Amino acid sequence: MSAARPPSSVDVAIIGAGAAGIAAARALAGAPLEVVVLEARNRIGGRAHTIDMNGTGLDMGCGWLHSADENVLAGMAEAQGFTVDRTPPPWESQAFNHEMSSAEQAEFRTAFAAFEARLAEAADRGEEGPASTLFEPDDRWNPRMDAISGALNGARFAEVSISDYDAYRDTGVNWRVAEGYGRMIAALGAGLPVVSDCPVACIDRTGPVLKLLTAKGTVEARAVIVTVPTDLIARESLRFDPPLPALVEAAAGVPLGLASKLHMTVEGADDFPKDSQLWGRSDTAETGGYHLRPFGRPMIEGWFGGDIARALEAEGEAAFFAFASDELVHLLGSNMRRRLAPVAASMWGAEPWSMGAYSHALPGHADDRTRLREAVENRLFFAGEATAEAFYGTAHGAWMEGERAARQALSALGLDPGRGRGDDEA
Ligand SMILES: Cc1cc2nc3c(=O)[nH]c(=O)nc-3n(C[C@H](O)[C@H](O)[C@H](O)COP(=O)(O)OP(=O)(O)OC[C@H]3O[C@@H](n4cnc5c(N)ncnc54)[C@H](O)[C@@H]3O)c2cc1C
Repeated sequence: MSAARPPSSVDVAIIGAGAAGIAAARALAGAPLEVVVLEARNRIGGRAHTIDMNGTGLDMGCGWLHSADENVLAGMAEAQGFTVDRTPPPWESQAFNHEMSSAEQAEFRTAFAAFEARLAEAADRGEEGPASTLFEPDDRWNPRMDAISGALNGARFAEVSISDYDAYRDTGVNWRVAEGYGRMIAALGAGLPVVSDCPVACIDRTGPVLKLLTAKGTVEARAVIVTVPTDLIARESLRFDPPLPALVEAAAGVPLGLASKLHMTVEGADDFPKDSQLWGRSDTAETGGYHLRPFGRPMIEGWFGGDIARALEAEGEAAFFAFASDELVHLLGSNMRRRLAPVAASMWGAEPWSMGAYSHALPGHADDRTRLREAVENRLFFAGEATAEAFYGTAHGAWMEGERAARQALSALGLDPGRGRGDDEA
């Protein structure tokens, strides 16, 4: 990664060095093209970001290789020398039975499975609308379903499209990268022609070449791959001249929800089962999920999704720890307060280069993912987690979309789309 100025003219400019941008740049690496990746932040990885705690990697963004048996990044992680941890995820093993008895946990699982089955049937019938219309009216489990939606979608089911939720592909296999998913994505981006601290404000498409107005001067490009999060397009943090109203509208239909993480250390961690989970409360969506002893570490990872994440972010980083401590004291006793210490909380909604965590389609807007993916004038291409149809919201979905956009750019420039290096040969 270079903090230097970008070249004044390239064949392909990629905007954003997250999973999609890195995948696109790697896919173009073997082609006879000059390529630059323009990244607003002073680091690569985007929403894949691992911080270091005395040598231990803590993921602030993506942490799970979801649908791991079909996840292109799982094999690449091992090929890069990272450790893929196959311990079953904590949401499969509720610790203790404090806020819900085992019978209630089973009852909830049945209710959630029935909800998802009704939703799949509705999608098959072509019905569209808020996923919450498939709730049983006044059912006691509805708030808890919304707590789960907060984790899955970063928003309540009332804000989530039936057909988009149904389109997500989950094979039920979830692994992790022990050293950190963010570290692994950053390692895959090492050596690429990235210019950091270089936000692009506008893409001028009035002339025969595209002109990118960046914080480090103008870059001309024959083709551009845009990988910025949808909210940045919808709020025109990145603009187009002339404007692209259909693109802005499509981006607004697939906004980023909010999910937040809080890493804490815990004294006397052996009291808790490894890689298990607790929810703060079962009667409200405004609660946290707590992953006890991730990787067996003396830590707890708090998860907050949707409205509660937004409310805590608005109060500031310290509010996450205050909220989590209160919930864990309520569940596990007053001595938890002195046993816990905060390490770091994410603030993805407040970050200007993400403005949220991951996308969900609003009711009636499932088709916006396809519209977002449409090339403009065969020289502007779009990729990112939000353009993925089945693996949206994920790092591997973003990766596959970055590769797809790179193939489109190669074709547009008259090259064989199989010409780039791709990762088979990486
Ligand atoms: C808390 C949290 C938990 C998650 N958990 C998981 C998980 O367990 N598993 C999973 O698969 N996924 C998870 N995700 C989602 C996953 O991290 C993202 O889907 C994925 O990283 C998105 O990659 P991307 O390339 O589409 O976008 P990004 O990573 O956002 O990359 C876009 C890049 O563009 C840059 N940029 C923005 N605007 C500009 C501009 N104007 N000019 C230049 N550069 C710009 C940004 O700085 C960024 O680097 C999680 C995300 C969060 C926030």
